[in-house]
Amino acid sequence: MSTSSTSRSARPRPLRWPNAVAVALATLVGSVAFVSNVAHAAVSQDQRDMVDRVMQRLLTVVEEPEQYDAWPPQWLVVDEPALNAFATVDRRQRNQNNELRPLVRIYRGLLDEIVEMNEDRLAFVLAHELAHLTCGHVTSEVGDTGVLDAAFTREQELEADRVGMKYVVAAGYSYRDAMGAPQQFVESDHSYTSFEGIGTDHPSWIERLELLESDELQKQYWRAASSFQTGVFFLRAQNFQAAEFSFRAVTEEFPKCYEAWVNLGYAQLMQYCDALDSDDLESLGIGQLIVGGFYERMGGTRGPVGDIESLWWDAVGSFQRALTLKDDLLLAKADLALAYLVHPSGTPDLGQAARLYADVAELLEDEEATANIDPLTRAAMLANAWVGLYHNDESQNAKVLAQIEQFLKRAEQRRQTADAAASVRAALDYTRARSLAASGDQANRGEAMELLEDYLAATPTTSAWWSLAYDQYADLAKQLGKPAQAADELRKPRTDDWRIVTSVTTGDDIVVSLAAPIRRLAASLDETVEGERLFQRFGLKQYVFGDVGTTLIGGRDVIAIVLSGPNAPPVQLRRETLGAQSEQVAIGMPRSEVEALLGDAWTSTNTSIIDPDQRHEFYEDVGIAVRYGDDNTVVEIIVTVAPRRGGGK
Ligand SMILES: [Zn+2]
Repeated sequence: MSTSSTSRSARPRPLRWPNAVAVALATLVGSVAFVSNVAHAAVSQDQRDMVDRVMQRLLTVVEEPEQYDAWPPQWLVVDEPALNAFATVDRRQRNQNNELRPLVRIYRGLLDEIVEMNEDRLAFVLAHELAHLTCGHVTSEVGDTGVLDAAFTREQELEADRVGMKYVVAAGYSYRDAMGAPQQFVESDHSYTSFEGIGTDHPSWIERLELLESDELQKQYWRAASSFQTGVFFLRAQNFQAAEFSFRAVTEEFPKCYEAWVNLGYAQLMQYCDALDSDDLESLGIGQLIVGGFYERMGGTRGPVGDIESLWWDAVGSFQRALTLKDDLLLAKADLALAYLVHPSGTPDLGQAARLYADVAELLEDEEATANIDPLTRAAMLANAWVGLYHNDESQNAKVLAQIEQFLKRAEQRRQTADAAASVRAALDYTRARSLAASGDQANRGEAMELLEDYLAATPTTSAWWSLAYDQYADLAKQLGKPAQAADELRKPRTDDWRIVTSVTTGDDIVVSLAAPIRRLAASLDETVEGERLFQRFGLKQYVFGDVGTTLIGGRDVIAIVLSGPNAPPVQLRRETLGAQSEQVAIGMPRSEVEALLGDAWTSTNTSIIDPDQRHEFYEDVGIAVRYGDDNTVVEIIVTVAPRRGGGK
């Protein structure tokens, strides 16, 4: 997926779960029985808790290897001063089902001297050991005589580093901070010690650091990083502000991640576009644009709009940064060209856009190099080029239209993109109608009026282009002496095209969003509020902020936002169209008003996280659950997303 367009159906469904939420859920399901025998004495309780916590979190992203009888491994903290950790299979230890379980051991010395209570460093060490197990470096045959101090080969060491770091970032740990573990080995004069013991051909830590920092591996890590995937989730939900935060975090961890820079720019540009109204579009004098594309791997509303123009500059800066890192990035060029078409001066910068679209056209000719760009995105990029530039250009007009048509036909063959393809056609028709209307020819203007009428019927009324189109339509009707349909007749209220709600903004302009790191967010709301354990075994906590009527629930990241009481911020609802006005659902609203916005297609649920007896009406498409009081007004709203059952990609 890559095109988020002005159509209601451009949103791909179902949404993929961002890793953070998936991890929280896996924890909730709690199907894995964790065993942890921790030795007594000098290992502190904090250290033991941290080992348990980090191991459990890593295990949620590690696929169970086939070669062992039982999984997960048993893990132990050994209360000895050695700088040691290893993975093995111990034939002497069988569990109650007589199964042989792999084993991970970590020594107090390593916790004291290398980890130093840093979870990301610990994640590096434990993930390295887990990788030895999942990569098949430890077999059941090893250790017949008891625990064998592992003697891994040089290649196995490097592989465990490489694979382990993927687990680290996928579980949401920081790559930069995790790298502190190997760095600490170098700095603490243990640069030739592998933590599994000294082997003759072990790679040195300096060598291992170099490998982990290589461009090739970094590329794998940023794609696996949970913040990247969370950002993609927010882009798909069109929560552009939350997406901006996620991709900013990726660029801080991986400054060379050109894909994150493109997506960051896209999130910024879309916030800018969202803030444009009909007057802005009229002044730009441009037809309907289809918004660009973002990078997806493995497969919002901006509270009070601050300085809109600076968003545009931020976006352009991000695209340029991406192009500095890699100068043939198709999406970066197409999105940057789109930015020049909606220039904040109110006049499209056609020169820049033309230069970039020429590059886009050239890159698209190389089918092989652009194989990951789907036909719908290709059609959308060219449609913007045609709307912004080529429809006026005799030499390009027909040729580009033919290309767009070719990609649209391919997009229409896929069920997921068929509706979105229709919205690209609508955008083309709108521009065609504008051109026809401008001609002096009576028949052309009649045709323009018909095209506009179709456009108005097919386009959500909340699109900023809708009212522009209606004015032109009414104008033409007057000129031609034909009857025009009233705006109300053409307006079609829709209840199924809201964006998924992923955040709320408090009165102090703090954006509270799902999948954000819960402790950081809690501190920004009120650092004196401590989290209370919700369910011991799920590792969930809740942070209650009575002053702003907001409760956060989550493990490491926020998985639900509960709003109640008079100070709770309203939930902003936005349709999927760009520039669409927002509506809100707030505490105290009568049921009739809520249903006028959202309809009555809710599923009833009595599985409130906090109180199992409470019943909510859950609007899955919108991601909010509403509870009414005795007087039928809203008393509680929960913002959360649920995995969709069945169906689709
Ligand atoms: Zn190793």
